[in-house]
Amino acid sequence: MTSQRTRERLIQRLMDQGVSNEQVLDIIRNTPRHIFLDEALSHRAYEDSSLPIGFGQTLSQPYIVARMTELLVGAAAKMDKVLEIGTGSGYQTVVLAQLVKQLYSVERIKPLQDKARERIRTLGLRNVLLRHADGGFGWPEQGPFDAILSAAAPRVVPEGLKQQLAPDGVLVIPVGGEQQELQLIMRDGDTDTFVTRSIEPVKFVPLLSGTTR
Ligand code: SAH
Repeated sequence: MTSQRTRERLIQRLMDQGVSNEQVLDIIRNTPRHIFLDEALSHRAYEDSSLPIGFGQTLSQPYIVARMTELLVGAAAKMDKVLEIGTGSGYQTVVLAQLVKQLYSVERIKPLQDKARERIRTLGLRNVLLRHADGGFGWPEQGPFDAILSAAAPRVVPEGLKQQLAPDGVLVIPVGGEQQELQLIMRDGDTDTFVTRSIEPVKFVPLLSGTTR
């Protein structure tokens, strides 16, 4: 199930759906997605679907991870400092970490963060800093960021996240309730003007406030 052929089939599927960034495809090809799941589900790791990781949360669908990553890489002027909201299993974290200098990732559910930390360590990545906090406020002490990616959907984009964008910084975020859309928000230079591009309809777990132990 974790064979090279199974992974190759996933890559082909992503390409069929329009993902074209070679670097992103390569990273997804070479990142072991099965270690981000409980053993009972790991045989489904290379399907193009979202899968449960406990606490009512899900490991994002490979297409969505690829699409959001590709958007970020394509729109950001640089990827030195990047913030992720919603570490979850750590899969998107690990994909992103291979494209950026320093990655910061915030998760509100402690046990999920603990597992993600273990996986990131197993893979030997040393450029990831994790924080247990409400990511709706970003990570002001570490900002500004060249790019921010949110894996959870707020009803309205938190103002704090936009303010933590560096000049020409980009934010990729699902927005909405029952109906959600993926948005690409770009800061215009060092101004307070933001340009929003609507990408496609999506279905993410909600961005919740506060933290749980
Ligand atoms: N990319 C992750 C997605 C996990 S689902 C993966 O593929 O595993 C989204 C995650 O966002 C969940 O783990 C959820 O707990 C987290 N989340 C929701 N609201 C949050 C908030 N305000 N701050 C930080 N994390 C949040």
